Amino acid sequence: MATQAEPTSGFTGDDKPQWEDYARCVHCGLCLNHCPTYRLWGLEADSPRGRIRQMLLVDTGQLELGDVFVKHIDQCLDCRACETACPSGVEYGKLVEVTRAQIEQNYRRAPFTRLLRRLVFEDLLPHPLRIAAVARLLRVYQRSGLAMLARASGLLKLFGMEQRERLLPPIDSEFFFSRLGKTYPAQGTQRARVAFFGGCLAQVTFTALNDATIRVLTANGCEVVVPDGQVCCGALCAHAGVRGTARELAMKNMDVFLREEFDAIVTNAAGCGSTLKEYSHLFPAGLDSEKAKDKHRGHKGAESTEKAQQFSAKVRDVTEFLAEMGLAATLRDVSRDGAPLRVTYQDSCHLVHGQKVKDAPRKLIRAVPGVELVEMPLADYCCGSAGVYNVTQTEASLAILEEKMRHAASTGAHAIITANPGCILQLRAGISRHSATTSSAQAEKPVPQEVLHVVELLDRAIIT
Ligand code: SF4
Ligand code: SF4
Repeated sequence: MATQAEPTSGFTGDDKPQWEDYARCVHCGLCLNHCPTYRLWGLEADSPRGRIRQMLLVDTGQLELGDVFVKHIDQCLDCRACETACPSGVEYGKLVEVTRAQIEQNYRRAPFTRLLRRLVFEDLLPHPLRIAAVARLLRVYQRSGLAMLARASGLLKLFGMEQRERLLPPIDSEFFFSRLGKTYPAQGTQRARVAFFGGCLAQVTFTALNDATIRVLTANGCEVVVPDGQVCCGALCAHAGVRGTARELAMKNMDVFLREEFDAIVTNAAGCGSTLKEYSHLFPAGLDSEKAKDKHRGHKGAESTEKAQQFSAKVRDVTEFLAEMGLAATLRDVSRDGAPLRVTYQDSCHLVHGQKVKDAPRKLIRAVPGVELVEMPLADYCCGSAGVYNVTQTEASLAILEEKMRHAASTGAHAIITANPGCILQLRAGISRHSATTSSAQAEKPVPQEVLHVVELLDRAIIT
């Protein structure tokens, strides 16, 4: 156990790291080599143990909640690999999220950063209509030649936006928002009735993936309802410490999805699923409901805690749900010219570390005839996507991605399969960066050519 006496609090308010949570760290260091930022920089301050130590020092008033502390907490991917590695059961994800809430409340960021954070976390993500409006503008930028012009003119480089702009996903022609309120009947005998969670940005960038998910579910005997009124899960806000907004979003989703009886609430986004399963962290039983009502609009005490537990118990990642239920649809052989389709699987951090779902996606991939699954080294290490990390910490994110692409290439796989839209975008950026910098003659083993979600692979194989 940690040696310090129980501290007097240097953090303020309700959302703060709790002594009983961070004191579980026995400083053994077993998590260090599992931490991407420690592997990258080799600094104790950028390791899980070092970050927990800094939380304790701030809480006990021995370290200022200032620039240095904020830098090391910002540089954490919140990938939670340290949680899986930890023998003491430290819930690091919970700790870093409330630490970021402390930073949000007690630290003044640069004015431009503050403005950007407000625009994204408060003014954009919670509002589906605004997401659609911004997406339409971006679509014009991407398709009118403006994007090419901005790249060719050197403008993006001048403003340091070149790498970030390349991470922008292509905006869909049709948005998934138009599917809200619809019900898709099961094919064959109905085996389950599920509610589908469509995400926020995914509704304007991953409509095809969401449609594929519905097709795979219905082909496997599920009636799929896409409830109207659903909003962003709140993951990006919660990870950034903007917990008031995350709570408001959680309240709306709980109201919408608990209105009817479903066998499960299904998502294809590991990052969303992890937060949806942990809504109770946003409404802890001991949270002072009166104070919380003022400071973090929408919290109604014990009633919300109970509701969050009821809601989270229903949430399933689509891979977990299908693997548990068993595939009923007939699958065709997807081998090419007599050779198996060689694929490798990249674990999404919030599926493997956040939700502890490791075998289900692999089981589904292996169920597709004509597929050969080759494991890459360190498949459960982050790809560097991590919510908005690739935008806020672009250099570190790309260095982590570089290592990931080397490991993926070492398998000789044609495709990388994963289970989270954010990882798909990051890995696709990895492929295009490699294609741009490495000729096939130079490459010992070329990087895979495409990135697919597990359900997209299943969708390709299903005989309708
Ligand atoms: S969440 Fe990831 S980046 Fe952060 S300390 Fe843990 S392993 Fe390191
Ligand atoms: S493995 Fe767990 S107990 Fe050991 S240093 Fe890391 S967080 Fe602390």
